[in-house]
Amino acid sequence: MRIRIQVITEADQEATPARVEEVACFERGSLSPETLGLQLDEAKQLLAGVQQIMTAQQVEEYVEQQRQCSHCQQPLACKGHHQIGLRTLFGKVTLASPRFYTCSCQPHQKRSWSPVAALFCERSTPELLCQEVRWASLLPYGVTVKLLGDLLPMEHQLSTSTISRHVHQVAERLESELGDEQSSFIEGCPDQWYKLPEPAAPLVVSLDGGYVHARSKESRKDGSFEVIVGKSTTGEGATTRFGLVSGYDTKPRRRLFEIFRAQGLQMNQAITFLTDGGDTVRDLTEGHSPQSSHILDWFHITMRLTVLGQMAKGVSVEQKGEKFEEELERVKWFLWHSNVYKALQLLEWLELDVDVQASPEARKLARTLHEFEQYIRANQSSIPNYGDRYRNGEAISSAVAESSVNQMISKRFVKKQQMRWTKQGAHLLLQIRTRVLDDTLAAAFQRWYPGMETGEPHQEPTLAAS
Ligand SMILES: [Zn+2]
Repeated sequence: MRIRIQVITEADQEATPARVEEVACFERGSLSPETLGLQLDEAKQLLAGVQQIMTAQQVEEYVEQQRQCSHCQQPLACKGHHQIGLRTLFGKVTLASPRFYTCSCQPHQKRSWSPVAALFCERSTPELLCQEVRWASLLPYGVTVKLLGDLLPMEHQLSTSTISRHVHQVAERLESELGDEQSSFIEGCPDQWYKLPEPAAPLVVSLDGGYVHARSKESRKDGSFEVIVGKSTTGEGATTRFGLVSGYDTKPRRRLFEIFRAQGLQMNQAITFLTDGGDTVRDLTEGHSPQSSHILDWFHITMRLTVLGQMAKGVSVEQKGEKFEEELERVKWFLWHSNVYKALQLLEWLELDVDVQASPEARKLARTLHEFEQYIRANQSSIPNYGDRYRNGEAISSAVAESSVNQMISKRFVKKQQMRWTKQGAHLLLQIRTRVLDDTLAAAFQRWYPGMETGEPHQEPTLAAS
């Protein structure tokens, strides 16, 4: 049998006859599992064909509307016929783009203009842009090109450099909506804060630092630079992720503040910051609320203690002292109950017990113990009574199933060791990736292109520029 597929276009005016154009014709013989319905190549050909016809007809109608002066309704003379190429999710289409002389009834800067070229100045449809950058934030650029090209009729219209350019373009647009940086976003005075309505439950904000490989040799130290990622969670459990490249981002505080504001932060509301205790992340916790507190994430304490415990297994009792493991458990217990003094004392004793001359393993254990002790000492003002907090249902750790760092950085940025990034490239891609993970990228596109259908129920938190 032969299956013919046609596009029938009906104009709004009933008098105009409908137009019929054939898109494809498929032959089918005897039925088998592999000949049932459409095949991928046919579907791609079909989509591309429909797209070319639809776009040509829509553009034709648009050109008709632009053909007369919008003031005096006089027909405009045509200066020439041109074509423009436009990338769409369903293939690259060629559109007729006539050039008209402007009407002399009004003053104009130019003598002629091309309405179609002016309307499609970006030369990629918003939907294509959105899908490109969305997948590019989840997969390497090369895989993104392959994926979109395999499933959609867009062979040869995408390349890794196009994708990289579009990621930058979209991310820069998001970045341009962010207001100016300030050293503090605390507004008003205690009298005013007191009169505010009853605040919602504290915002819990986790902040972590991670490292990605640098492409340039500008950071000679170890060929990597620091990326900060985190998420802010409301009492109701709504989460917004964020990420930035420290030292590159000029508005880190504003970035966080806009997220808190979109989550309804008021000046009498508490914010609990959970961090890994690093200097750059701690610095970011300042200036957001008079009610903010900083806590060393319990996850980072237990993680380091686990590493110490494993390291101790490779060192004999004679070299590390008796009851090392039990004592390490006591350190954990002291820290859990905010008894930093006892924990530090015990850590010092443990360190003294290790015979550093005995073996490289013992030396390493002593060094790691010392680093842990320094770490606790530097963060002692941020070690609360975790036990009490835990019993009261208050946040002590952000690491539920996997850490933010792993979710936001490792999976896309460092999984392959050969992947190297510029600060700008990593920062901009993070702006897309955090929104894709939050399901808010499509909402941003909808704000820029109000006619766009996204099919996503999620609402973007209002990120108003101010
Ligand atoms: Zn006119």
